[in-house]
Amino acid sequence: MSGLPVWIGIDDTDSYYGGCTTWVAAKLALRFKDRLLDFPYLVRLNPEIPWKTRGNGALALKFSSLTDKEVEEVATFVMSVARGDGKTSPSLLISWGDVRQDRFAIKAIRDVITRRELERALEKIAPTSRYFLKKPGKSRGLIGCIAAASHQWSDATYELIGYRDDQSYERPEFREDVLWMDSLTAPITFANFDREAGKPLIYPHGPDPVLFGIRGEDVRVLKAGMMMLRNSCSFWMVFKTNQGTDEHVVAIRSFEQAYPYTTVSIEAHVASNPTTISGGHVVIDLIDKDGNHGQAVFYRQTGNLNRVVRRLVRGDLVRIWGGVRPETQRKVINGQGLTLVAPKNTYEEVPSCPFCHRKMKEVNAGRYICDTCGVQAVGKARLQLKRDILPNRIYQPSASAFKHLMKPAGRRAILTPQEVRSILS
Ligand SMILES: [Zn+2]
Repeated sequence: MSGLPVWIGIDDTDSYYGGCTTWVAAKLALRFKDRLLDFPYLVRLNPEIPWKTRGNGALALKFSSLTDKEVEEVATFVMSVARGDGKTSPSLLISWGDVRQDRFAIKAIRDVITRRELERALEKIAPTSRYFLKKPGKSRGLIGCIAAASHQWSDATYELIGYRDDQSYERPEFREDVLWMDSLTAPITFANFDREAGKPLIYPHGPDPVLFGIRGEDVRVLKAGMMMLRNSCSFWMVFKTNQGTDEHVVAIRSFEQAYPYTTVSIEAHVASNPTTISGGHVVIDLIDKDGNHGQAVFYRQTGNLNRVVRRLVRGDLVRIWGGVRPETQRKVINGQGLTLVAPKNTYEEVPSCPFCHRKMKEVNAGRYICDTCGVQAVGKARLQLKRDILPNRIYQPSASAFKHLMKPAGRRAILTPQEVRSILS
């Protein structure tokens, strides 16, 4: 099958105890750098899946060609460095020509892939593919391999990851460097520094070979950012990724469409004032446009977001997004973001007497009278509600609670072909 581009898909070679799938991909990208057709892809899969690996990221590389001997070399290398600890199922896919499982890929990011769906996809790609498993029969990692190699990019960001080759556990953190880099390169770079907690976010904390990761929109700026750090890495690689794109979020109209293990975005009315439960988490009751009831919980850990949600009032129209809990009794969303679409700005009250300021009494439907002064009024009094939450602003969790796929407010999708045409017309 020479003459065709070769796709390599890798998943689940990392574990909680070390090893890292991006490290494996970076090594392969450097080894065959002369035939690399794009940056390696780092595709984050559905974050709501309970059996996911840490970060739930799958990798894919596209080369213009590889000889049979080189393919063997890739397989030997990946399988020898994959650790396969615990519940991981390290997998490698090699495909000649495009994999073209686009719908499978998007489902792996937004939903759950069943065993049957995986088997069907493997049947389809079998004539042009080979796969390798670290543990016989443990093929779940192939979901990520197929998804990463098939992923279609409607939006993308980049991450520059620096690695250390020695397995020493020392990982110096240069707080000032990161702050400096952030102030010069953000918002083209993002998720560098948690200004609330005063901590850098580019350093991982596990015993893996990653020294730092700088995320952002423009590869050249990421490279400049790396130069501003005193950290010296053994080697580095740039990944094209769906991090920061909200690709996992599905817009729905009704709570009936809120399926467990998915991340949804829904517009709904706030049905009762927010309640704070033990632990400082905030619960709001919601009613969607079809009259279905639902709930959203905003954990204390979401920091800023949790504090904003407390200020909602019954009657507000909001858009909220987050992961759907696997509960069957009712629809509960773990809130990850909020926009106030239409704030409730007024409220009605039984009128007070303009002379003695006592509350008036209702005499019959909608008519009020002051017992003392005899003054009459028709209808309730409409009063202005003071709000300290801005409409149409995107409220998000604090930096420390930000997850890979969440799109930072302020960044937007790359232009669609239609938008490009409309600008040029
Ligand atoms: Zn009165």
